[in-house]
Amino acid sequence: MATIINGVTTAQDIKDEIAESVRQIKEQGGKIPHLAAILVGDDGASQAYVGGKVKACEYVGFKSTLKELDADIDEETLLQVVDQLNDDADIDGYIVQLPLPAHLSARKVTERIRPEKDVDGFHPVNVGRMVKGLPAYVSATPFGIMQLLERYGVETEGKHCVVIGRSDIVGTPMSILLSRKSKPGNCTVTVCHSRTPNIKELSLQADIVIAALGIPEFLTGDMVSEGVVVIDVGITRVPDATRPRGYALKGDVKYDEVEPKASYITPVPGGVGPMTIAALLHNTLLASKKEIYQ
Ligand code: NAP
Repeated sequence: MATIINGVTTAQDIKDEIAESVRQIKEQGGKIPHLAAILVGDDGASQAYVGGKVKACEYVGFKSTLKELDADIDEETLLQVVDQLNDDADIDGYIVQLPLPAHLSARKVTERIRPEKDVDGFHPVNVGRMVKGLPAYVSATPFGIMQLLERYGVETEGKHCVVIGRSDIVGTPMSILLSRKSKPGNCTVTVCHSRTPNIKELSLQADIVIAALGIPEFLTGDMVSEGVVVIDVGITRVPDATRPRGYALKGDVKYDEVEPKASYITPVPGGVGPMTIAALLHNTLLASKKEIYQ
């Protein structure tokens, strides 16, 4: 029987720890952490994500500012809003909710954010610092996975970790963080992707599998060994007429087959996903304390 790694309760623990830090800051008369978000357009999913972030700020006692901009805003005007947030001394950190409408360059906008305020951790300076093992804002999903491994006491040192997926937001940062000389870390890492011909051969050798490819139920029971630790990052909506919303959320792991063989496993939903907002709050607290860039 595997230990189920619960992202909901772990994220709640982190939020409560942050709320306690804010309470102490207030008690000592310090500056209240302030997170801002730029939301372009009226995409329902993006509105819901940003709404969740604002609510989480209220929960922990942060100040929050939401800048809602029209979908047809031109790039220069958007970059001016970014510059305003860069220069606003009260705002410790901010995010630009992605994806942006097609006529706007996410790369240009991300690179305009001052790295000191880039609490999403997407700016190349933060990514570069993370790669070099310097203090950095680590982006939400890799941060969340590292927290889950640490807080559940999963031993990573000397273990073979197979990461399936090499995106710049999940697979690649996970492979770097787990290979680093740190705790969690010190893994021997194999990165698999769409051109890897022998994934099953590799995953069978893994002590830890991080599945981040976006193909529902890709990792089946015959692809893992007894005692494996499985982190399922995938979230795909699969049509399901029996559900009120008409779809079910599926991970990249065939849970029913893999769970009986695993020592630890994250479910979908309720595993990695809930950790993302906790990560953002964590980075904002670091930003307000000027702990990364001194
Ligand atoms: P992505 O940018 O589409 O990257 C997918 C990666 O998987 C690519 O590196 C791709 O290889 C690889 N891949 C695709 N098909 C494969 C196959 N058949 N065998 C092996 N590798 C294959 O996706 P992502 O942004 O990393 O997200 C991955 C999944 O995680 C998605 O379901 C996404 O919704 C989910 N996600 C969840 C969270 C969360 O908070 N829980 C956060 C982010 C993402 P190539 O590089 O060769 O194309």
